[in-house]
Amino acid sequence: MLEYQAPRQDLEFLLFDVFKVQDVWADMPQFADLSDDLVRAVLEEGGKLAGQVMAPLNQSGDQQGCQWQDGEVRTPQGFKEAFTELAGGGWLGLSGNPDYEGQGMPKLLGCLLEEMFWAANSSLYLYGTLTVGAAICIEAHASEAQKALYLPRLYSGEWTGAMALTEAHAGSDLGIMRCRAEPADDGSYAITGTKIFITSGEHDMADNIVHLVLARLADAPAGSRGISLFIVPKFIPDESGNPGTRNSFASGSIEHKMGINASATSVMNYDGAVGFLLGEENQGLAAMFTMMNYERLSVGLQGLGAGELAYQQAASYAAERLQGRSATGPQNPEGPADALLVHGDVRRMLLTVRALTEAGRAFSMFVGMQLDLAKYKADPAAQALSELLTPVAKAFLTDRGFECAVLAQQVFGGHGFVREWGVEQIVRDARIAQIYEGTNGIQAMDLINRKVLRDAGSTLHALVSNIRSEAVPPGLREGLIAALDRLEAVTAELVSRSRQDADLPGSAATDYLDLVGYTLYAWLWARMAETAPQDQFGDAKRRCAEFYFARILPRTLALEQTVLAHSSSVMAMDESAF
Ligand SMILES: Cc1cc2nc3c(=O)[nH]c(=O)nc-3n(C[C@H](O)[C@H](O)[C@H](O)COP(=O)(O)OP(=O)(O)OC[C@H]3O[C@@H](n4cnc5c(N)ncnc54)[C@H](O)[C@@H]3O)c2cc1C
Repeated sequence: MLEYQAPRQDLEFLLFDVFKVQDVWADMPQFADLSDDLVRAVLEEGGKLAGQVMAPLNQSGDQQGCQWQDGEVRTPQGFKEAFTELAGGGWLGLSGNPDYEGQGMPKLLGCLLEEMFWAANSSLYLYGTLTVGAAICIEAHASEAQKALYLPRLYSGEWTGAMALTEAHAGSDLGIMRCRAEPADDGSYAITGTKIFITSGEHDMADNIVHLVLARLADAPAGSRGISLFIVPKFIPDESGNPGTRNSFASGSIEHKMGINASATSVMNYDGAVGFLLGEENQGLAAMFTMMNYERLSVGLQGLGAGELAYQQAASYAAERLQGRSATGPQNPEGPADALLVHGDVRRMLLTVRALTEAGRAFSMFVGMQLDLAKYKADPAAQALSELLTPVAKAFLTDRGFECAVLAQQVFGGHGFVREWGVEQIVRDARIAQIYEGTNGIQAMDLINRKVLRDAGSTLHALVSNIRSEAVPPGLREGLIAALDRLEAVTAELVSRSRQDADLPGSAATDYLDLVGYTLYAWLWARMAETAPQDQFGDAKRRCAEFYFARILPRTLALEQTVLAHSSSVMAMDESAF
């Protein structure tokens, strides 16, 4: 299997040419010192870590998986050392708060690093991303003492994080969870219950594991307004902040999964475990949601990373593998056959993967930039945009990432189905990103109900209006304007019809999210084509943009029809007929 290489040229093109980050950061005092050279050095070092330390363990980690014995979990060979390098290099604290030993870098830059880490080894990076997620939540809601205790240890990876939300009967619907919390005399709480599917809930790579657990107090209101959030460390920190008494919870087993086999997914049993309230009582779900925008973007980047890794493998294979002859006559007359790259259908697959992946990268950066503007400039428009686009980033990037992984596998023919080449692993590993951190169906419902219908499409309209004022290459202008018009017309119709047809939003949600995604990718391709340099790299960008507009954007024509089809086409069949 070809080792993963970070796509540095594309990253730098997007940063410096497409998004002109120097101008954005010049206006943000926190980032005023971020020179181009420093940014390039960060990308170079991150790329080395991804390519030389994480990627070589991807296949062996998948084959060995994790081992569970008596409540303890052993991760695959080499994982602990690689995680120590990932954490020790400060990568988990890259966008963390400098007051607590984070690096204070923009999320926009963090997105690029995350994509590399996901692409190189998604199982290994999961131990990191859960740690980053826990830190974000603690930073936003914890007391000063809690921040001082936990944040430096999480940023350094000395301790790792886990998020314990899901219960066997409560997945998408967390409001019906049962895990209990009882106040103790010393101000702590006793946490009792069972959580399932807890990523990194137990493992052997850190001195302590900090669980953030959602639980319900006895007198709490029913439903999602009665859920509180607790810090439940595996070892209760002593007075000097070192891991002390072993807390009373343990991993009951680990799951045997389709993919991400080197990531330990535990059933966690909390048996009167000592927990410390994080934020306010009964505000737990709201507290979790403040970090959701970050975590959901991160999982979107997992999908993007899968697409990039898949592209690299498939493009290299298609250049080497000789099968058949070109339709226009032999291109490799000395050889027994031409390379796969001469065939239109193979090019269709590769260009689809590339066009979706490169636009996805630009899209993820745009969302990351909105998170920075919202956080560091308190920009309300950026806050609204980040909320609008987060479900799109999570679902569209992971759905397209999986599509890309399957297309790349197809380029390999039968060799994509067998283990040797490692491409089937990309498919297996990419699949979970569509499911966890809120299924993609739930993301689509979030987009349509909370982000579009609630403000009658005005945040989306503001974005589209800004896009309309951008310069676009003449060859792409007509297609982009038609796509923007289509999106606005469908949105207006959806807003209006949903008032009479309560089932319409749910029936149309996923198709609508796709319509938004494909339309925004068209905008980003137009912007990339407009900014691309006059060289080989720039020519390839322009060719990809043309491919996107000719071959992928027309998907929106079908989506326009399916989104606006009456909900009865989905809802009319009687339940007993299923
Ligand atoms: C490998 C792995 C790792 C995970 N890691 C974690 C973790 O670290 N911490 C954690 O807390 N959880 C974790 N999860 C749990 C994961 O987040 C849930 O599985 C996911 O949120 C879906 O919940 P569920 O499995 O109960 O499915 P359900 O909620 O039962 O959903 C089943 C289907 O119904 C759809 N659906 C449900 N409700 C609605 C609705 N209202 N409207 C429309 N459609 C709906 C869903 O989209 C889905 O397609 C993990 C899961 C896996 C498999």
